[in-house]
Amino acid sequence: MNAFDECVARFFGHRYHAYNDWAKHEYGGRLQKVSIDAGFTCPNRDGSLGIGGCTYCNNEGFSPSYLLEQRDIFTQIDTGIEFMRRRYPKTKAFIAYFQSYSNTYDDLDALKQVYGLALSHPDIAGIAIGTRPDCLPEETLDYLAELATRTMVELEIGIESCNDDVLEECLRGHDFACTQDAIRRAAKRDLFVTGHLLLGLPLESRDSLIAGARALAALPLDALKFHQLQIVRGTRLANLYRAAPDSISLLTPESYLDAVIDMLELLPPGIKIQRLGSEVPPSVLVSPDWGMRLFKFPAMLEAKLEARNTWQGRLYCAHA
Ligand code: SF4
Repeated sequence: MNAFDECVARFFGHRYHAYNDWAKHEYGGRLQKVSIDAGFTCPNRDGSLGIGGCTYCNNEGFSPSYLLEQRDIFTQIDTGIEFMRRRYPKTKAFIAYFQSYSNTYDDLDALKQVYGLALSHPDIAGIAIGTRPDCLPEETLDYLAELATRTMVELEIGIESCNDDVLEECLRGHDFACTQDAIRRAAKRDLFVTGHLLLGLPLESRDSLIAGARALAALPLDALKFHQLQIVRGTRLANLYRAAPDSISLLTPESYLDAVIDMLELLPPGIKIQRLGSEVPPSVLVSPDWGMRLFKFPAMLEAKLEARNTWQGRLYCAHA
């Protein structure tokens, strides 16, 4: 079997390792995340690190509408499950996804209480926790590792970019070394670690993305989420864009998918791809308006991979 056939067999007939394919094989069906806003904040918003947040951040843009209307975790889960059951009737299990802001940014007792509440819901099979790399003290990781021996736990770490100039420009408040350290400390405890990437940030370039992919390939990541930069109302980036639209070069669907492929080629075949993009509501989107729905991305990526005659891991070298 040649390298291409080996990968396609491993990717269940596709040219990249889709998380949904992996979950179906591993758990017998779709794992569907149900987003939760548990009322956490973020050190880049509450004054510990900054007050305005990252330049692109407006969590309303990335949260389902039902989260904006209600705070009670059980109600959020019920509403989310009802919605997802209609959309994905074959879902095998629901995962409570702590999505908004930094969901490990509190003392451990408070975290235990919130996670425990979600896990006590009869239809919830596990939790996924989105957070910043600088909000993962040892005691929190120890607790999550212990929790993972009893239930499904996914830790989603906001990488966004692997380039320090890009991180500084978007006012993240941490560097890539911090991200690398957090991923290694979490993986050392056998936690399932997903990295969250945002492609197209100011100062990011094809070269920096490729260098980033090489750096990510050396990290013990289980999964990655790709997102395209969208400028959202109420953000510093939106103000900048309105004042000087030419100062921000936004990706097109074609250039975005090419960038994803440039990175996929360098990534290990074992990394599962959990997301290929995001879609903010038209009411908060400033730009770019691609005029297409997210569900089309997997087929578009597959077609582009085929057109470029490539696949995830084609240029990956384990000893690079
Ligand atoms: S770390 Fe996340 S929640 Fe905090 S300001 Fe940045 S994008 Fe927003």
